[in-house]
Amino acid sequence: PDQATTMLRVAEVTMRFRGLKALDRVSLTVDRGEIRGVVGPNGSGKTTLFNVISGLYRPTGGRVEFRGRDMTGSTPYRLARAGMSRTFQNLRLFGDLTVEENVLVALDRSRTLSSWRYLLGPVGILRRDRELHRQARAVLDRYGLADFAGLPPKSLPYGIQRRVEIARAVAAAPSLLLLDEPAAGLNGEEVRQLSDIVRAIRDSGVTVIVIEHNMGLVMSLCERITVLAGGRVIAEGEPAQVARTPAVIEAYLGD
Ligand code: ADP
Repeated sequence: PDQATTMLRVAEVTMRFRGLKALDRVSLTVDRGEIRGVVGPNGSGKTTLFNVISGLYRPTGGRVEFRGRDMTGSTPYRLARAGMSRTFQNLRLFGDLTVEENVLVALDRSRTLSSWRYLLGPVGILRRDRELHRQARAVLDRYGLADFAGLPPKSLPYGIQRRVEIARAVAAAPSLLLLDEPAAGLNGEEVRQLSDIVRAIRDSGVTVIVIEHNMGLVMSLCERITVLAGGRVIAEGEPAQVARTPAVIEAYLGD
């Protein structure tokens, strides 16, 4: 696997919490331009894997390479600067900011505006940056969020909040986007829209890894799926092929 085609390489990663091995020598390689699904029963280590990849946890063992560079144990901030972006299972939007300001803050990837200046009033400072403002508007337009620009996310329907989170995550033009259960709590129509959004993100050149319980979505969206159970990779491959794997069927019986 050469560097030009590999976006992310996780090699033999182990994550131990006291006695518990949440990840046990997990390896996977994600190519550029891929939409990779990560599935598995509850407690199988999916979110822990995202937390290791995005730098929230330093793995007990193993290695994480992002865009050909060893980033094991790097901080979330440095990984974000290097082009990695993620969403969380439970939404983490800035509650005191509007939809547009949430996107503005994400766009300020270079952090030319230091955090203490945010505290002194993000609205005024960021709004004065007309280029940033224009970019935020473009992002909101692209994701059908323009009508909600001036509202706090909390006042909006859950499905819209989820979309704001994705818009914010892609605003900084990442190379790799990690989506943690993006379909949770969405209705059928919203799941279809999400599917279109994720495909469009990929088509714009972003590699996507998605943890998802909605199997219909995973099967239709992902080219390849990695299945975790008990902190180990028990299967990997094309959706239809993986769904037929006895170990996968068995892992899900007790879920
Ligand atoms: P999944 O996302 O597949 O549901 P998780 O990655 O959340 O699984 O959890 C995998 C295992 O690791 C679980 O047994 C969970 O309780 C444990 N775990 C996750 N995070 C922590 C933590 N910060 N401290 C201790 N145990 C944790």
